Amino acid sequence: MILPGKTLGMLGGGQLGRMFVMAAHAMGYHVIVLDPDPDSPAGRIADEHIHASYSDQWALEQLMNNCDAVTTEFENIPASTLKKLEQSVPVRPSSAAVEIAQNRIVEKTFLADNGFETARFFPIYDKDDLDFALTQIGTTAILKVASFGYDGKGQAIVNNLDEAIAAFESMGSVHCVLEEKISLKTEVSVVLARGTEGKIACYPVGENHHVNGILEYTAVPSLLSKRILDRAINEASVFSEKMDYCGVMAVEFFHTIDDRLLINEVAPRPHNSGHYTIDACKTSQFEQQVRMLCGLPAGSVDLLSPVVMFNILGDIWSNGEPDWSQLLSNPDVKLHLYGKREARAGRKMGHFTCLGNSTVELLEETRRLANALPKP
Ligand code: ATP
Ligand code: MG
Repeated sequence: MILPGKTLGMLGGGQLGRMFVMAAHAMGYHVIVLDPDPDSPAGRIADEHIHASYSDQWALEQLMNNCDAVTTEFENIPASTLKKLEQSVPVRPSSAAVEIAQNRIVEKTFLADNGFETARFFPIYDKDDLDFALTQIGTTAILKVASFGYDGKGQAIVNNLDEAIAAFESMGSVHCVLEEKISLKTEVSVVLARGTEGKIACYPVGENHHVNGILEYTAVPSLLSKRILDRAINEASVFSEKMDYCGVMAVEFFHTIDDRLLINEVAPRPHNSGHYTIDACKTSQFEQQVRMLCGLPAGSVDLLSPVVMFNILGDIWSNGEPDWSQLLSNPDVKLHLYGKREARAGRKMGHFTCLGNSTVELLEETRRLANALPKP
C-alpha cells in the first residue's frame, strides 16, 4: 500500500486531474502533475507542475524518480509514455488498458471480440472503406475519428456516400469508425473501481442526457428498471475483468428504444457522469482513484441522497462571469467551477449538483435552476 505522505503522479492537468489533486491532498498525498499547458487547472493546485509534453524524456524521468505511483486523467496519453513509466513505477490503469480505450477501432473490436453488444461499426482507414460500410449499415450512420474525440467532437452524422466522403475528408482523412446511428431511449453509465486484487466496487448507475454530443446532466437513482440497471453493472464489471483493469473506469451505455443495452465507449479514468459521487456518495470517484492507485481497498460506493449533476458550459459566459447568487442561495446545491481561464462555447467550465428527495423532483428543480442561469 502506498500511504499518505507519498507522492502521486498525474498525467494531464484538466478538471479531472484537478479533482484528483483535491482528493489526494485531502488524504495527505503530494501530487506532481504533468501537462504541457503552464496554466492547467490541475497543475495550478498541484505540489509540482511539470509543464512539458507527455513524451518529454526529462519530464518522464522526473516522474519516475519522484513519484510512488502514476495515473492519468485522460486516455490520449501516448502508450509509449505509460510503458516507459511502467518500467520503474506502478502505473494504474496500465498502458495496455489505456491503449485499448484510446482508439475507437481497438476499443470496439475488443468489445466485440469479448462478446459485448455495441452499435454496428466498421473501421474506416481510407475513404474507399466508406461505401461498403455504409451499405452494410444501411441507415443513418455516424462517422467518428478513432482517436482524440471528446464531447462529440470529431463526429458527423452521414446519410449517404457523398456526405460520408465529405465528412471523412473534413476530419483530415484520419482513421475513423463508421457506426450505426442508434434510436436511443436513454443513456446510462457505470463508474466502477477495480483493485489490484480484482475486487470490484460499482457506483449506482447514472442516467445520462446529452445535448449535441455533450453530457448535459446525470440523474441518480436512474428511473430505468432494475433489470436494465443490474445488467449495466454486470456488463461493466465483466468488461473490467476482461481487461484485468486496475483503477477507476466508466462504461457508457446506449439504452435503445427496443430495450437493448449496447456499450458505447469506456473511459479508463473517472468520468463526467461520475461527478455526482463527489457530493452524493460516501466516497467520491476521485478519492476512489487515489485508493485504487495506492493499492488501498475501495471506499464505500453507497449513495447518500438522490442527486442530479448538471454541466455548466462556457456558452453562458457571453456577458462575463455569470451571476451565481440564485444557484448558491439554494441550500441543496453544490457548485463546482474548474478554474479554467477562458470560457468557450461548449467548453465544460464546471457543474452543479442538486441533492433532494427523488430523481423526478430533482430533475424539475435542476431544470429550473439551469434556466435561471444566463442564456447563451
Ligand atoms: P465523451 O468522450 O465526451 O463521452 P465522445 O466524443 O467520445 O464523448 P461519444 O460518447 O461517442 O463521443 O458520443 C457522444 C454522444 O453522442 C453519445 O453519448 C450519444 O448521445 C451520441 N451518440 C454517439 N454515438 C451515437 C450513435 N451511434 N447513435 C446515437 N447517438 C450517438
Ligand atoms: Mg461518450
